[in-house]
Amino acid sequence: MKKIAILGSTGSIGTQTLEIVRDNPELQVVGLAAGTNIELLEKQVREFQPKLVSLQREEDCKELKTRLADLEVQIIPGMEGLLAIAEMEEAQILVTAIVGMIGIRPTIAAIKKGKDIALANKETLVTAGHIIMPLAAKMGVSILPVDSEHSAIFQSMQGENKDRISKLLITASGGPFRGRTRQQLAQVQLEDALKHPNWSMGHKITIDSATLVNKGLEVMEAKWLFGVRLDQIQVVVHPQSIIHSMVEYVDGGIIAQLGTPDMKLPIQYALFYPDRRPMAGKRVDFYELGSITFEKPDMETFTGFKLAMRAAAEGGSMPTVFNAANERAVSLFLGRKIRFLQIPEMIELCMDAHHSIENPSVEEILRTEQETYELIRRRTE
Ligand code: NDP
Repeated sequence: MKKIAILGSTGSIGTQTLEIVRDNPELQVVGLAAGTNIELLEKQVREFQPKLVSLQREEDCKELKTRLADLEVQIIPGMEGLLAIAEMEEAQILVTAIVGMIGIRPTIAAIKKGKDIALANKETLVTAGHIIMPLAAKMGVSILPVDSEHSAIFQSMQGENKDRISKLLITASGGPFRGRTRQQLAQVQLEDALKHPNWSMGHKITIDSATLVNKGLEVMEAKWLFGVRLDQIQVVVHPQSIIHSMVEYVDGGIIAQLGTPDMKLPIQYALFYPDRRPMAGKRVDFYELGSITFEKPDMETFTGFKLAMRAAAEGGSMPTVFNAANERAVSLFLGRKIRFLQIPEMIELCMDAHHSIENPSVEEILRTEQETYELIRRRTE
């Protein structure tokens, strides 16, 4: 029996993780954390019977407690709840399916308790990879990628010598606006940005895919996860999303992982690694597919990607500023407060105003996050 806890159980990755649990009786859920979705968390608790759960707000926890009066389940609100679930003695693996930098402290707490991490919450590695990866190595815990590209790279590395890697090739669908000009991007609406061509995901990452910011975050995530230099990572646009990423080795050989776009495969791979388990679902039909194509990302149109590369190259606290500015700008865009092209504009403004701190501590990362939010607040009010 493998015991798992999930942060962000009501989201896109969280619910798909629970679908896998439903299909695999050898997985047992011991802890679940969500933000505000009381209804769904209640259903999840009734079905999966965890010992400990959390919602963001105290009043929502009280409401949940009333609804679950017939069950024995502990409920702790906010960060305290996230940390308690991350540290649960019973859990062997923590699925970090929460969105944003709020995942940093619970991820660190779980690693310190020796839990393996199935990591979807890329924002934690982007901003605190220099703390998380050495800590994981020291504690002997595995950081198992859930992001489909990183899982593909991880799968393409099995049985290979890491020192023989020459390049990681991260594929990108190009998002819903591939091929558009900046003039056209100036006109796009929220509804257009939320229509991803191949993947069905949470709102934040869907917008990040439309701006190509997501690809920038993935480059930073890959750098930390696989311990490679930035110049060893190349992004290749591949609109059909069949090749999920590739690894090139020193002899020129390239190993890739392919499949239909379905997040359940990388989630399940992380949960059962190094085993592979059967999974139902659509298979790639190469006759039907016919051809797949590749192109260069358009960094001049999708300036969010260019800014990500700048933040990655500058390092230190700059990725935190990039990420925090993006989180806030996306949230404003989702609330129809700003236009699409203002997302990269806000990121650039915050990056230009920041003096990077080398090797920031968790406190410095969180302070930088707040300073970035504050700068955006002043500029948008
Ligand atoms: P969603 O927005 O669908 O879900 C986010 C989850 O986090 C929800 O359960 C939400 O709860 C919870 N949450 C949000 N804020 C808080 C908070 N303050 N306290 C506790 N819980 C909170 O996101 P996704 O599942 O799409 O993404 C999750 C992470 O995985 C992100 O980092 C994303 O980049 C990454 N990822 C996602 C992929 C995908 O296919 N979706 C692919 C690869 C990576 P509630 O809904 O109850 O408010």
